[in-house]
Amino acid sequence: MKIKKGDTVLIIKGKDRGRTGKVIKALPKENRVIVEGLNLVRKHIKPRTQGEKGKIVEIPRSIAVANVKLICPHCRKATRVGYKFEDQDKYRYCKKCQGLIK
Ligand SMILES: [Zn+2]
Repeated sequence: MKIKKGDTVLIIKGKDRGRTGKVIKALPKENRVIVEGLNLVRKHIKPRTQGEKGKIVEIPRSIAVANVKLICPHCRKATRVGYKFEDQDKYRYCKKCQGLIK
């Protein structure tokens, strides 16, 4: 998967389109990511004991990788990434500025 934990991404689809955030979790098996503070869903928590109040918490829902674009840490543009091999390691690189993204 081309997006990893810690990356900054731009949302290109859905209600948070145009917003950016940091990937807090990558789900490679599902091709999805969870972005900090974005794509929140409200969940109502029922009181468990009498006297306790129910509350609403906001939980970030995962976003399909196809709906986000990586923000390059070098040129700060939303970009596509490719792969480069160097010292037997595979690195991602920005297709706009060619900078390596480690
Ligand atoms: Zn770049």
